[in-house]
Amino acid sequence: MIDLHTHTDESDGTLGPAQLVEAAAGLGLEALGICDHDTFAGYDQAVGVAQAAGLELVCGIELSTRLRRQRQSRGKSVHVLGYFLGGPPAAEFRTWLEQLQRSRRERNARMAARLAELGLEVTLEEVEGLGRSLAGRPHFARVLLRKGYVSNLQEAFDVYLGESGKAYVEREEPGLAEGIRRILEAGGLPSLAHPLRLGKRTPEAMDKLVAEMREMGLKGIEAYHSDHGSREVEQFLSLAGRHGLAVTGGTDFHGENKPNIALGTGANGNLAIPRSVLDELLAAPPNPQSRPARLRR
Ligand code: AMP
Ligand code: FE
Ligand code: FE
Ligand code: ZN
Repeated sequence: MIDLHTHTDESDGTLGPAQLVEAAAGLGLEALGICDHDTFAGYDQAVGVAQAAGLELVCGIELSTRLRRQRQSRGKSVHVLGYFLGGPPAAEFRTWLEQLQRSRRERNARMAARLAELGLEVTLEEVEGLGRSLAGRPHFARVLLRKGYVSNLQEAFDVYLGESGKAYVEREEPGLAEGIRRILEAGGLPSLAHPLRLGKRTPEAMDKLVAEMREMGLKGIEAYHSDHGSREVEQFLSLAGRHGLAVTGGTDFHGENKPNIALGTGANGNLAIPRSVLDELLAAPPNPQSRPARLRR
């Protein structure tokens, strides 16, 4: 069993990198992928610990991007995973991530100010104290909960932090095509994260969207995810086959920030991702030069 999508407390998970590795080793996972949002800090710290524990560690990233259709619209939020299986990402990529991190900090400051305007005492220091330098909305949610402003984490999003919440502040996010291109240029394999969240109702609509992303250079799709029941897993495996995409999979473990998702096994034990998923990824390294194959209809 493997888990290729987890978060440390360097982004919005709650376990430190070493704790996460120890938990994975304790579970007997055959491989662990760390895909923090916009940072490799968790992965970097986990390398030595994983080596000592004899755990295969996979270097990943998760980018929040926007797919804009109309000029005036905010666009659809699309999360892309990047897997660096053939070696560490190019240095330019890390520099680019620093820009994204700056945009997060700026947004955090504006969100704290917005909450203050609403009469809620939530300081940037408290939030960033929970989330290191890469605090995100889940950390705001925890502070709101701790102070009794909401009675659970979901309410924090529904009332304040979600896209239609009172304290929501937009963040500058790269376009989907740019995110995919940057991952490819850095030697990574871009994979569509938790595809169910795109909210496509019909298989036809999903096919069309995935074909569009394939044209941008997408190489994989996260067919195994805690959001997916066995029917969805089958659907996305078949979608991957039709579009010539690699299959990736992970729980999207965030520790106490998403307490219903367990490392390795997902939501109520709905996942047991076979080692062969990683073997196939390793056997088929991404080739940025390859042209997208023509779609079969
Ligand atoms: P951020 O990266 O700071 O924009 O925060 C994004 C994270 O917040 C996502 O990964 C989710 O875990 C969480 N999140 C965003 N919107 C919601 C929502 N409406 N309900 C619950 N959690 C959400
Ligand atoms: Fe997250
Ligand atoms: Fe995500
Ligand atoms: Zn994630």
